[in-house]
Amino acid sequence: MPATILESALSQFHSAADQINLSDQNRDYLTAFKTTFHTEFPVEMDDGSFRVFHGIRVHHNIARGPAKGGIRYDAAVTIEEVKALAMFMTWKCAVVGVPFGGAKGGVIVNPRELSTSELQNLTRRFTSELVPIIGPDQDIPAPDMGTNPQVMAWMMDTYSMARGYTIPGVVTGKPIALGGSEGRFEATGRGILYVLQEHLAAEGGVSGRTVSVQGFGNVGGVAAKLLQQAGATVTHVGDKDISLHRPGGIDATSAFVYTQAGGSLRDWNREFGHAEEVAPAEILTADVDVLVPAATESVLTEENAEDVRARLIVEGANGPTTPEADAIFQRRGITVIPDILANAGGVTVSYFEWVQGRQFLQWSEDEVNAHLRRIIAKAYREVTSRCPIGGEGCTQRQAANWIAIERVVEALTLRGIFP
Ligand code: NAD
Repeated sequence: MPATILESALSQFHSAADQINLSDQNRDYLTAFKTTFHTEFPVEMDDGSFRVFHGIRVHHNIARGPAKGGIRYDAAVTIEEVKALAMFMTWKCAVVGVPFGGAKGGVIVNPRELSTSELQNLTRRFTSELVPIIGPDQDIPAPDMGTNPQVMAWMMDTYSMARGYTIPGVVTGKPIALGGSEGRFEATGRGILYVLQEHLAAEGGVSGRTVSVQGFGNVGGVAAKLLQQAGATVTHVGDKDISLHRPGGIDATSAFVYTQAGGSLRDWNREFGHAEEVAPAEILTADVDVLVPAATESVLTEENAEDVRARLIVEGANGPTTPEADAIFQRRGITVIPDILANAGGVTVSYFEWVQGRQFLQWSEDEVNAHLRRIIAKAYREVTSRCPIGGEGCTQRQAANWIAIERVVEALTLRGIFP
């Protein structure tokens, strides 16, 4: 049985905690979840009936600042998954040094089965249930799988109406017209480009590298497009429906524009791409320089880790690599730039959006990208200073976790225990 994502998260934590000799009390503290909130709530459907949905919000740790994390709408949402993702958020915010703690939330629903008005009803009722535990100083949700800027607009409006005035800082990932940040939509994919540019700076850069990207949504689609624009050859891309290979390079920019306008990757390929359709497993085992798993969790496992041919893996998704696969990659000398560093671009620009919202300021996209590059590059250097590239006996994931854990423990120590 493959490990669940919560088992993976805890296993990674304990392995890092062992290596830095974390005390038992800090281990207990960091594996505890501050708030676990469940709500079952009714939603009016278009035909006048109502259905009851189950929503979850978890705050893992708030020693470093307000809780921050996405809201996922997916039929497969579980409390274990939400807890694991909340814990990853704590480490991610700490590694890039943004002043937030970790949270995550979700509703068990297939959003594609709901009409727009049902989705709005669901979002507004769920937000009403969350009012006591979210807020710009308390817990700031953002989009994740199945949610988008429109959902954030409804959340912001519902929360604001409950308080009686407009509070843009309660969510991030909003539409620009409501105080969203320039550059937020592309931020996670752009962070992947920036961290890869840092990593390859001494070895000739990104240009000319071959890349395979799993997932063609917000993270994978943007990453593929920006990597192509930076001179890489994207030989493989795949989503839930189709996996594509073209040795001379797939035009990821064209495919991304097409899919963002509502078309499918399959239709784009039939009309414009003309790439060969391959088995889904081939996306992960392609003979490329760089593999970017940017779809979902636990896709690199002990079943396929020996077959991976890329020498470098940049984790766009949260938790795509199981601990067993991680050990195989370490033995095989394959470098993994871990999720909490590689996909931190999204939360970093969410932080910029929150700052802009609180100050009623708007930065330009160039300003946003410049700040993002600075933060990602600094975090990358801090991680590699703890575990040098090519160094034996450590991985970038372990180093990133050491730094994150130490920063949370430092915050707790400085704050002390109240009362
Ligand atoms: P998304 O819904 O926009 O896109 C997901 C993509 O992955 C789609 O193309 C989908 O078809 C594909 N996919 C899903 N399951 C697949 C499978 N089994 N095989 C192949 N393709 C599959 O979601 P997203 O926002 O791009 O998020 C992707 C991952 O990145 C998630 O793990 C998410 O938690 C993580 N993440 C997202 C952000 C963000 O800012 N959006 C930030 C950090 C991490």
